[in-house]
Amino acid sequence: MAITLESCPLFIGGEWLQPKVAGTPIFNPSTGDIIAECPLGTPADVNAAVEAAQAALPAWMETPPVERVRILARFKMLMEDNFEDIVRCNTREHGKTLVESRGDVKRGMEVIEFALGVPSLLMGDVIENIARGIDCEAIRQPLGVCVGITPFNFPAMVPLWMYPIAIACGNTFVLKPSEKVPLTAIKIAKLLEKAGLPKGVLNIVHGGREVVDALLAHPKVKAISFVGSTPIARYIYEVGTKHGKRVQSNGGAKNYVVIMPDADIENSTRGVIEAAFGCAGERCMAGSTAVVVGGAEKSVLPTLIEAAKRIKVGPTDRAAQPDMGALITEQHRDRVLRLIEAGVKEGAKIPADGRGVKVSEAPNGFYVGATILDHVERGMTVANEEIFGPVLNVMHMEDLDAAIEVANKSFYGNGASIFTRSGKAAREFKHRVNCGMVGINIGVPASMAWFPFNGWNESFFGDLHMQGKEGVQFFTQQKVTTSRWFSYGEGDIWHAESKK
Ligand code: NAD
Repeated sequence: MAITLESCPLFIGGEWLQPKVAGTPIFNPSTGDIIAECPLGTPADVNAAVEAAQAALPAWMETPPVERVRILARFKMLMEDNFEDIVRCNTREHGKTLVESRGDVKRGMEVIEFALGVPSLLMGDVIENIARGIDCEAIRQPLGVCVGITPFNFPAMVPLWMYPIAIACGNTFVLKPSEKVPLTAIKIAKLLEKAGLPKGVLNIVHGGREVVDALLAHPKVKAISFVGSTPIARYIYEVGTKHGKRVQSNGGAKNYVVIMPDADIENSTRGVIEAAFGCAGERCMAGSTAVVVGGAEKSVLPTLIEAAKRIKVGPTDRAAQPDMGALITEQHRDRVLRLIEAGVKEGAKIPADGRGVKVSEAPNGFYVGATILDHVERGMTVANEEIFGPVLNVMHMEDLDAAIEVANKSFYGNGASIFTRSGKAAREFKHRVNCGMVGINIGVPASMAWFPFNGWNESFFGDLHMQGKEGVQFFTQQKVTTSRWFSYGEGDIWHAESKK
């Protein structure tokens, strides 16, 4: 049966515009079907969107912060009312399970909840009598037109890391969602429109490099928020800053989970399995390398292997849910398979092998089963490259020092975790590990909306991270006013002038 393609409109100046050109296919990864086409936008679309955002700016900047966040409060209610509809759209275009999609949407809604409190974070600082009779105040003002460019793996959450905070601060926004998953972003933006957002405050353009380059160079764009792979994150940072923009740019990752000999086996197995195979490993916070320390491999490894082999893979777009869904595209699935092959060729053992997985009810979906590569060594391809699939590397180290050393040699720096019963080992790990988000007896933890999403090293380019207070600082600039009032003069002149 032929599938009716969903529409994928642009959103410019409050109008939903049907694209004039054909685009790139959007798949349902569970089945391999094309469900829509994402238009390849042009620099002219970018210009129209930025001009619309610029036109909306003066009125939006002057809208009192409390009125701005009232619209976001209605938006949050509409997200709740339409929650399952968004979740299903998210699962259909991404392939993750419904439970995982619920997590994706909920984490995004938490950023809206955070943004409701933005007025209190816009409060400035004042010192009276900085010199005799002179007062000094610092206030925060919006930047202007801000841009967000987002990846495929969290279609709901990542765009919501950006624009609720940006617009609560008084900016206007142009979003370019991933061309692989634009439909969830569109569905959510329609709810914000319904909540009463004025025309032009949020705009959406679609496309790839040409559109991104036009956004990076547009003279009316003040700031760029980017999330995606490290090579593109570095490019966005370099080109964006060269054009004088403020840039926060999140890149890829390779996160280490250390399992100490005294770790609780049940809890650490659950934590590692969720960290490695949640969202089929397509997470920048995936715990993609387990570092087993001392005798841990005798106790925890067999349990991990058994748990990985039990993971049921299948289509997520129907009532009976598997444990793990498909990868985003056929090309990405093939890349993951090639990396597993490379691991085996370079000497890793493969005690859980997901390469031949068969999903009879959806034979054209983009599946790879849960895979464990054991005895991975530094220098192997799989030890260096971000696989971004359901593959857990296992490395063996003799003690905590060696485990920290291997984690710290990574050029990425998003997150790392330790499973242990020892407070001393946990403290040592937290203190010395070279990354920005640390878990103790918990899988690699993504910060909640009130904290910065805190990548280090090649996982982040910029100064101010997304979310939390740093998010508000990123989307505002300070103005410092020093004032002195005389007891005679100006007031009278002003009064006399205004009466003329
Ligand atoms: P990607 O880098 O391929 O694409 C991200 C965005 O950049 C998309 O909107 C895409 O259209 C655009 N883009 C792609 N190629 C471009 C180019 N040559 N020039 C300009 N723009 C380009 O990433 P992806 O495959 O969509 O997402 C997966 C990656 O994102 C992984 O590396 C993952 O670790 C990373 N990620 C990082 C975080 C984080 O916060 N650190 C969060 C989620 C995902």
